[in-house]
Amino acid sequence: MILRLYNTFSKKVEEFEPLKPGKVKLYSCGPTVYSHAHIGNFRSFLVADILKRFLEFKGFAVTHIMNITDVGHLLDDADEGADKLEEAARRQKKDPLEIAGMYTDSFMASSKLLNIKPANHYPKATEHIDDMIKMVETLVEKGFGYIVGGNVYYDVTKFADYGKLSGNTLDDLNAGARIEVNEEKKNPQDFALWKHDPRHIQQWDSPWGRGFPGWHIECSAMSTKYLGPQFDLHTGGEDNIFPHHECEIAQTEGATGKKWVNYWVHTRFLLVDGEKMSKSKGNLYTIPELIEKGFKKNAIRYALISSHYRQNYNFTFDGLKAAEQAIDKINQCVFTLGEIAKIQNDQAVSDGVKSLIDKSLAAFDEALCDDLNISKALGAVFDFIREANKLEDVSPSEAAALIGAIEKIDSVLGVIEKSSDDVPDEIIKLAAERKQAKLDKNWQRADEIRDEVTAKGFVIEDMPGHEYRIKRKEG
Ligand code: AMP
Ligand code: ZN
Repeated sequence: MILRLYNTFSKKVEEFEPLKPGKVKLYSCGPTVYSHAHIGNFRSFLVADILKRFLEFKGFAVTHIMNITDVGHLLDDADEGADKLEEAARRQKKDPLEIAGMYTDSFMASSKLLNIKPANHYPKATEHIDDMIKMVETLVEKGFGYIVGGNVYYDVTKFADYGKLSGNTLDDLNAGARIEVNEEKKNPQDFALWKHDPRHIQQWDSPWGRGFPGWHIECSAMSTKYLGPQFDLHTGGEDNIFPHHECEIAQTEGATGKKWVNYWVHTRFLLVDGEKMSKSKGNLYTIPELIEKGFKKNAIRYALISSHYRQNYNFTFDGLKAAEQAIDKINQCVFTLGEIAKIQNDQAVSDGVKSLIDKSLAAFDEALCDDLNISKALGAVFDFIREANKLEDVSPSEAAALIGAIEKIDSVLGVIEKSSDDVPDEIIKLAAERKQAKLDKNWQRADEIRDEVTAKGFVIEDMPGHEYRIKRKEG
């Protein structure tokens, strides 16, 4: 089955064919590290994660780059206003790099909690200023960039394809343009490649004097540095389409003279009460906040991946609770099968079980090949779980085969709890003692042990048939 994806550039669902057979190069616009990333941001990052994991499920070797924006993203995406990071630095009376470091760490920690597979590299804008300067020089040499008093702008009328991604033609844009405040620009839609502003805290030397790079140039310079002048996939949230990605295309293709990215994948917004969740609106939740409220990290992941990326996802706490129940169903099935699989056995796997596995994996694959149709894919998973639960006299080898298939599915979903293999003996003994106390109906002792285990940083979760599992406390 071939993966079909909606390409924002062609506005069509297309068959995915990588530039090099078996290999995929993927670039994702990463976080602007001026505050904690929220679950809306993570919805976009999780779409990239699911896409990458599914490509790996299908046997592709994926190289993934995600940038960290630590300079140049102005409050107004259209080039005006203060730098988001510097604004935060001023407010918190800290150095911009300290702010960036703090929120980069927070982003990495939440990505880990959400079981997002790390990118191969997370280049930081501030560590690639030379690469950006080189690209701006090329754009000036080729006539796309022009210099005005220490600023360098991109002349959008020089790039014939400007507007192709977003559908914003220059005529439309000019008709709707706000009153132009910047008289240096040749055209209202020209955007900054390099900015001169003595008030800016972060400054670098350049052929045009001291200044700092525009936001868009970092992604053009860093993506091509790590992935080459042409690659397969570029992701981001829907607000990245314009101006950010439109400008990225104009810059990169202007500089290299080559078609840059083959497939553009954009995630629709996560909403709260019908409004975009955003750092500037302040209507946001972070991952640690939701964990603090008692939600499990894999349920948060499940909730954020469980709706189609080209539809808005309306975040609710009921949705999170439903996600917990859904995951419990998968985990309980894996647990029950795991108990059977523990027994040594080399009996053959029956044709019935084999065909259930093949059918389920094929249905999961088919659903995700259909432009990452996650609802259909999850439907296939729960059909599989239901049928697996109904099987009678499952042999240990069959249980192991069924678990193998669920784990294959989970290599994409990433929601199954892995039982901790680092539980100390002391805790294992206490848990066994608690099970006996419960069998003896000594509820007081059972509760005491639970509290003791909790105080030591572990949680005992009860499973059917007096079974249980022990996990490290999250957070
Ligand atoms: P930022 O940190 O603002 O640069 O955003 C990081 C990523 O999150 C970008 O790809 C944005 O498009 C995306 N994003 C921002 N807000 C939301 C939202 N409410 N829902 C989904 N994606 C979002
Ligand atoms: Zn970007």
